[in-house]
Amino acid sequence: MANILNCLIIGSGPAGYTAAIYAARANMSPVLYTGEQPGGQLMITTDVENYPGYPDGIMGPEMMDHFQKQAERFGTVIHRELITKVDFSGDVHKAWTESGTLIEAHTIIIATGASAKWLGLESEVRLTNFGVSACAVCDGFFFRGKEVAVVGAGDTAAEEATYLAKLCPKVHLLVRRDEMRASKIMQERVKSMENIIVHWNTSTEEILGAEEVEAVRVVNNISGEKSVIPVQGFFVAIGHKPNTDIFTDWLDMDETGYIITKPDSTKTKVAGVFASGDAQDKIYRQAVTAAGTGCMAALDAERYLVEKGII
Ligand code: NDP
Repeated sequence: MANILNCLIIGSGPAGYTAAIYAARANMSPVLYTGEQPGGQLMITTDVENYPGYPDGIMGPEMMDHFQKQAERFGTVIHRELITKVDFSGDVHKAWTESGTLIEAHTIIIATGASAKWLGLESEVRLTNFGVSACAVCDGFFFRGKEVAVVGAGDTAAEEATYLAKLCPKVHLLVRRDEMRASKIMQERVKSMENIIVHWNTSTEEILGAEEVEAVRVVNNISGEKSVIPVQGFFVAIGHKPNTDIFTDWLDMDETGYIITKPDSTKTKVAGVFASGDAQDKIYRQAVTAAGTGCMAALDAERYLVEKGII
């Protein structure tokens, strides 16, 4: 039994690191695999103003650095590797890393988060990194002084548009309906920037350009009228997809891939496997709620290990 971990945590956003802090302090000797983007989505954001405890806000990467240090302080072992396969058929759960290493664990806490969604256009794929991006904070700098478009109408789109408006002379915000889903405060910020032009009822037909983005062809969803807006950058900000593909064969999920957990717990349908954060929560999707469910998963895992007499 010596090589079987008490607790394997998959993912390194607020949910994964909070689970690690709690699991480590409960003597569960957690081992955490970070995945492709250590630190998760907050690594590609700027100011986090709504995480309690930071009255002046904090930069996303700095906050995740704090999370990681706190998890390590209590003995969490962290591997910068991706888990690519799991097998939940036995009492002991199995997972494999990208390089093929097998890990066995009594409990697994899933905290794999979510990734940006794309429109699904051929031109979007072809021009990714040649003017098409899903992260203004990462790539905005390259578009200083250039005209850009942002597609989306949620908080992410509003945030990206206001961020870009500080760098770019004109930002075209492409909203497919006649209203935005973004919170009031974010919508106010959009309105307050004179160089953000909101195109209501507007969908993207194609991103134009042979080698790099030169323009975007849009269609008005009411009149059917098409037009071309010259832009050099095109930012996609239309929401996220949970990173749960490797669990499809083993766990219950909703139609969009969010893992279904039992009411008032992080338990999945497999005993000893718990799900937290954006992989499981399609409603709140905040850093603080992810951290909360990470804590819950560690407590649920601890109870499971105690009941089984493993710790
Ligand atoms: P959301 O799911 O909230 O919004 C996605 C937006 O993209 C919707 O407005 C949707 O339009 C639009 N959209 C979806 N598909 C298409 C398409 N094919 N073409 C055009 N538009 C499309 O995702 P977000 O990433 O914005 O936000 C996710 C969560 O993170 C939210 O809970 C949000 O509050 C939170 N968040 C908070 C921030 C903060 O507080 N600082 C910053 C960023 C995110 P429609 O409305 O018509 O469905």
